[in-house]
Amino acid sequence: MNHEASLPELDAFTRDLFDELFCPAGASNTPTQAERRTINELMQQARGEGLAKPIVDVFRFLLHLRDEKRLTPRDLGLEKSELVSLAEHHQALDEHGVSIGGRCLKALPIVREANARVADYLERHREEAPTGIELWDKICTNRERIKQILNMGEDRWNSFGGQLKYAIESVDTLSQIMDLPQETVIEIQRVTRHYRMRLTPYYASLIMPGAPHDPIMLQSVPTAEMLTNAGSEVPPVAADHSPARLIDQFYPRVVAMKATNMCGMYCTHCLRIAHIGRKDRIYPREAYTEALQYIRDNPRIRDVLITGGDAFVLPNETLAWILAELDHIEHVRLKRLGSRIPVTTPQRINGELLDILGRSNDKKPLRVVTQINTAREITPVSREAFRKLSGRVSAVLNQAVLLKGINDSTVKMWKLCETIQEAYVRPYYVFNCSYRNPQFDHLRVPVERGRDIIESMYGNISGDAIPRYIATAGGKIPLHRSNVLGRCGSDIILKKPWDGQEVKYPDAG
Ligand SMILES: *Cc1c(COP(=O)(O)O)cnc(C)c1O
Ligand code: SF4
Repeated sequence: MNHEASLPELDAFTRDLFDELFCPAGASNTPTQAERRTINELMQQARGEGLAKPIVDVFRFLLHLRDEKRLTPRDLGLEKSELVSLAEHHQALDEHGVSIGGRCLKALPIVREANARVADYLERHREEAPTGIELWDKICTNRERIKQILNMGEDRWNSFGGQLKYAIESVDTLSQIMDLPQETVIEIQRVTRHYRMRLTPYYASLIMPGAPHDPIMLQSVPTAEMLTNAGSEVPPVAADHSPARLIDQFYPRVVAMKATNMCGMYCTHCLRIAHIGRKDRIYPREAYTEALQYIRDNPRIRDVLITGGDAFVLPNETLAWILAELDHIEHVRLKRLGSRIPVTTPQRINGELLDILGRSNDKKPLRVVTQINTAREITPVSREAFRKLSGRVSAVLNQAVLLKGINDSTVKMWKLCETIQEAYVRPYYVFNCSYRNPQFDHLRVPVERGRDIIESMYGNISGDAIPRYIATAGGKIPLHRSNVLGRCGSDIILKKPWDGQEVKYPDAG
């Protein structure tokens, strides 16, 4: 049959569609009454309304009957000319001139395949990686129990000062709150002789009592492995990178200023475990002035990261003063604050702090860089803190750490990235957990595993929810897999990360 002659208006996809529908070889089949009824109804709707979908429904049903039962439209009493005019009508209706063949044979199957890639995630995420919003009822029950045990009123609970004052540092208090088995208590007692434990009551309320390997507990309560793993630390991070007091530098134009060694809580996986949380120290004013002078003296520096410890531990006046000093240095064009406090103690994010951040951001962009490792850490309270922060600074970015048993699965990492994005936070980095500290060897995940997890996001979640995967080894080194397979003449061979399909991409001459 000469399609060029019979279907002059229709594109190649639609000609293929007609070939498929009309060409199944073999004997003619008989449709059931129900099938006849369905097609008649669909045809009526397709003819009647000025809508594209009823036409698509006709062709999809015909394709279905062809695939399942080898039925052709003729078996159903449909003339080709009738279908051709429907096809023309569809294309005329569509704003972008999409043909019925393109829609049925290309677009819809592509969407079907794409849907299949996320089916497993959508089925499992609520069970395997619930957010703190999804678990909010349970968290509220925990909160009431903890308030009662600590004898802590609502006002204290809702203030940063109260959260710090009632911070859980003793194993006895922890065991009361969590109802821990005796052997766990003894283990934690043994470890906390060497490693400091501190959780704010709020962060403790995210732990589900009785759950083994609770991801919040693993991040905040030291475990026996930290002792068995103990070995000598590879020369402490930044000892070899500190050109001036409080300053860490390995890049020409970005420096970090470690403005405090304190945090709202102490993480079991802390990269700076040798420096953070051992002993709280208030730094003298001269330390800050020397650090600021170093920045002032080095005109290449354009971006200053104030970190710690945790930048939000700093009293408001110190924070405001450092930011104002930086804003006065002409070559400093941007600032960042590193803080985990919005997730561990969101009560810190109050009007006074927001005003300080907003004022500085109005002068030169200020970003907040936080650390959220599980979707559980986004609760209605932390989400609200991030919403307010994001309204006053130029960006809120997340640097997660890939941690075994905590977020080292596709489901958990996708859920983390999507959840924080919905909480006004942009996924920025995922760090492969550092080799420098043998204490948390048990939390490390092989580089390849992390790479598979991060690469699995391409094409499956929003592009701006996909973090960069990084190893820290004297600077941040990207660990992504290349999708450039090679060259074929003037073409580059690329691979689609989500299905492995290869495409030719003509290079510039
Ligand atoms: C992380 C870090 C930076 C910032 O690096 P970016 O890639 O710009 O986020 C700068 N200096 C030091 C010392 C750091 O550790
Ligand atoms: S908040 Fe950061 S610096 Fe503080 S203990 Fe946790 S990982 Fe370390």
